[in-house]
Amino acid sequence: MENVFPTYSRFPFDLVEGHDVFLTDNNGKTYLDFTSGIGVCSFGYSNELIQKNVEDQAKKIWHTSNLYESAIQDKVAGQLTNDDQLAFFCNSGTEANEAAFKLARKYSGKTTVLAFNNGFHGRTYGSMSLTGNPDIRVGFTPLVPDVKFADYNDEKAISKITSDLAAVILEVIQGEGGVVVADKSWLADVQKACKENDVLLIIDEVQTGIGRTGTKFAYEQFDLDPDIVTSAKALGNGTPIGAMIGNKKLASAFGPGTHGTTFGGNKLSMAAASGVLEQLTPDFLKEVQAKSKLLWEKLNTEIKPLPVVTSITGLGFMVGIHLDEKVPVGDVIGQLQDAGLLTISAKHNTLRLLPPLIMDESNITKGIGLIKSVLDN
Ligand SMILES: *Cc1c(COP(=O)(O)O)cnc(C)c1O
Repeated sequence: MENVFPTYSRFPFDLVEGHDVFLTDNNGKTYLDFTSGIGVCSFGYSNELIQKNVEDQAKKIWHTSNLYESAIQDKVAGQLTNDDQLAFFCNSGTEANEAAFKLARKYSGKTTVLAFNNGFHGRTYGSMSLTGNPDIRVGFTPLVPDVKFADYNDEKAISKITSDLAAVILEVIQGEGGVVVADKSWLADVQKACKENDVLLIIDEVQTGIGRTGTKFAYEQFDLDPDIVTSAKALGNGTPIGAMIGNKKLASAFGPGTHGTTFGGNKLSMAAASGVLEQLTPDFLKEVQAKSKLLWEKLNTEIKPLPVVTSITGLGFMVGIHLDEKVPVGDVIGQLQDAGLLTISAKHNTLRLLPPLIMDESNITKGIGLIKSVLDN
């Protein structure tokens, strides 16, 4: 690619067609997909309802500004929230976290936010300033002030949650940071300290949400009651979308003129998201949980014992296979591509798997078999 800033080192092929959980590149080679983009296309590449919703909407109208009522936006907000919540739509994960950061400051009248080392919240200034990864921030200082960091899963972090904070922001599973799952008891302590000190709890579910871990949001499995939840990636199955979901008590701080976006809540993305959320039923999630069980059985029996594997972490359809330093994850990804399987990496030499949630047992088995054959030679 000659005309694009080289912000990504790209694999040397172009995925030009997708069907179900398979992708075909510009050379005609077909791959089984264990990535869903980066946790985006959870319903695969040819979901009928999502496709129909977008096609029907495209024929009617693509865009109106947010200066008018939008029944479809309100419908998706209703599908996404519970009775105590409201939604704000934007176009990406980083924008959802920007909205959360701004709302937390405005509502609380305080400025400081506590975030966590190895966390990832996005690339715009606010979200990047909340991102606990120095590699992402290098060359871009000065950042947004009044952001503090603590170690994830560390009890010492609890004493840093004091009444001068506007908010605490965290992922319940750090995705980019290496698929690190939070301890349930630690999260309970974080929640308790937030409540006691009148500090808002923001959960970034951009990667973990929309069924990825077997529940609509991963925080449900950790018994949390966040004030703000952010969503994006899988919410539109590939159409650009983000959402900040917040408790109704916060509404007074986000009145007319306080925050906005031209494209957020646009009807094409809403049509896709409505199809996603309509299919994210309790029965569908039960199926994801059952298939997750099979996936983890296979990981534990076939992949974990391999000498190059140091550990496997994750939840549901979000998996990190941690590899010995001697085996660079980039090489493994290349060999898996040759073998017809798409995977991605995360920090600390982690092979990351984010298969579409619609993947059936035979393709799960097939993918794990390919991973085993590449890691075992
Ligand atoms: C991907 C991601 C983001 C950023 O989302 P973009 O849509 O790329 O801006 C934020 N938080 C988490 C946890 C993510 O995984």
